[in-house]
This record gives sequence, C-alpha cells and structure tokens, in this order.
Amino acid sequence: DLTVGVLALQGDVREHLAALTACGLRAAPVRRPAELDAIDAIVLPGGESTTMSRLLETFELLEPLRARIAAGMPAYGSCAGMILLAAEVLDGRPDQQQLGGLDVVVRRNAFGRQVDSFETDLVLDGIGGDPIRAVFIRAPWVEKTGADVEILATVPAVSGAGAAAGQVVAVRQGRVLATAFHPELTGDRRMHALFCDIVREAAGGDHG
Ligand code: GLN
Repeated sequence: DLTVGVLALQGDVREHLAALTACGLRAAPVRRPAELDAIDAIVLPGGESTTMSRLLETFELLEPLRARIAAGMPAYGSCAGMILLAAEVLDGRPDQQQLGGLDVVVRRNAFGRQVDSFETDLVLDGIGGDPIRAVFIRAPWVEKTGADVEILATVPAVSGAGAAAGQVVAVRQGRVLATAFHPELTGDRRMHALFCDIVREAAGGDHG
C-alpha cells in the first residue's frame, strides 16, 4: 500500500490527512527522519514557511526531505508548502530554506494586506467539472516559471482580487504539485485526488 506523509511540524495537518484518506491512500504525519523512510509521497501543508523552514532544520528533516524530493518522490505543497518547494522566494526571510523541486520563483504574502485572505472560483487545468473554490490566506503567487513547469491555474479577473488577476496560483512540474490556495479547507477532494493519481502513477500503476 502507498503511504502519503503529511509534514506535521506546523500548519493544517489534520485536514490533509483526512483528504488523502478520502482519496483512498494511507496517510501519516511526518515529524522524524525515520518516518520519511516509510512514505511514498509527501504533502507540505499551509502555515508559515519561515517557521516551517526553521523547524525542518531543528528536526533534521531539511536535508533528507530535499534528497527524497530530488530523487523523484511526489510532493504537493499548499500555500506555505508551495513556498518551501520553490527554487526561489521573494519577500522571504534571508535565512529561509528551500526544499526545491519546483523550478519557480514565488512571492510570499503576494496579495498584500488589502486582500490578505479571499476566496474565488478557479478553473484548473486537469481537473474537470465545476470550478474549484479556492481559499487564499496570506498566500504566495508564482512570479516566474521554468520551462518544465506547467501552469494549472491563474486568478480570474472577476475574483475581486484586483491587480492579482492573471497571477499564477497552481503549478505542476512532473511529480511536484503546488497551489497557493488551501483545497484541504473546502471538502472538495479533487486537488488531493489529482495528487493521489500522481502518487499512484509514480509507484507504477495499480497500487491502492
Ligand atoms: N504567508 C505564509 C508564509 O509566508 C503562508 C500562508 C499560508 O500557508 N496560509 O509562509
């Protein structure tokens, strides 16, 4: 059976565990290096990327997690998780560490104070049916994408997010997926289902 870890140093861990389980994969919190060995994929939740970066170092997870992701382990980052996966961060703390895996430049807290938090309906490439209700909480956006990065969603002009219209908020690079928003908060499992498909595909097909 495939197990998806959820980095459990900080942030909304429980909601991700529930969403992954609902998609039919085993889900387990990850706090220790040994727990990394037991997982086939990882979700990096929302929270505060600077804090998570510091805790990754304290818990000695930074290097091993970097190595697993570099070796091709599927990863999905939401909000702060997206920031951790990015190759480069703008408006980060100078000592903020990156896990890498995504050839993008993200800007932290990009939507600014006036629209600190907002919700909008997003059409996502690769996800059929109704648009996804996307909850943004002091979210980053993607300011630059490398050649291998697929843009899955941009902020629509109707969102009330003003100058944010057109900004990139969901991306995929091979087995690495990231959203600036929090699908774990809405009860819509399609984003997690997409990630679970990536995990199953990476494992070679017919795993549970
Ligand atoms: N602003 C946070 C950061 O910079 C991210 C917010 C979130 O994850 N909801 O890490």
